[in-house]
Amino acid sequence: MSATACKSCSFFETKVVAAADAGLCRFNPPSFLTEDEKRGIWPVVKTDDWCGHHSKTN
Ligand code: SF4
Repeated sequence: MSATACKSCSFFETKVVAAADAGLCRFNPPSFLTEDEKRGIWPVVKTDDWCGHHSKTN
């Protein structure tokens, strides 16, 4: 696994995603896909995904 994988990122949130190998990325605020949506969503990422905003957990 990459040293910058989502699994080791402080923005990775696993509490609200049912899949064991996935979680939410909380780097940005939630997005609203349409104007009618009352609730925003965060992107779902896999544990072995990564991006340039990785922040190592303490
Ligand atoms: S997408 Fe980037 S910022 Fe979001 S959890 Fe993964 S490494 Fe962290």
